[in-house]
Amino acid sequence: MCRATVLCCFKCAGWFNKEGIESCDICGDWKCPHCGSCLCDLTLSEKKIAISYMATYENLLKELTGESYDFSRHTQVLRDINIEPRKLIRSGLSS
Ligand SMILES: [Zn+2]
Ligand SMILES: [Zn+2]
Repeated sequence: MCRATVLCCFKCAGWFNKEGIESCDICGDWKCPHCGSCLCDLTLSEKKIAISYMATYENLLKELTGESYDFSRHTQVLRDINIEPRKLIRSGLSS
């Protein structure tokens, strides 16, 4: 398990440890303890950027560790920005 436990907030860029923090029921993201933001607080184009970066990061992790990420936790956000979860797994990496 080498997934990041310390995250950088998309809204305020503050670092926080996600351990012990509840994830948002709507977007599946962790709420930043500094500014209280999750993916819900981003605009549509900001959500697209955040999800694209997540996809880059998660596909790299998958390549390095074989551990895959379940983007369906962000189904609501993906619906907002009109992206299918399976599109976020790079071809050749799907298990
Ligand atoms: Zn924040
Ligand atoms: Zn949220």
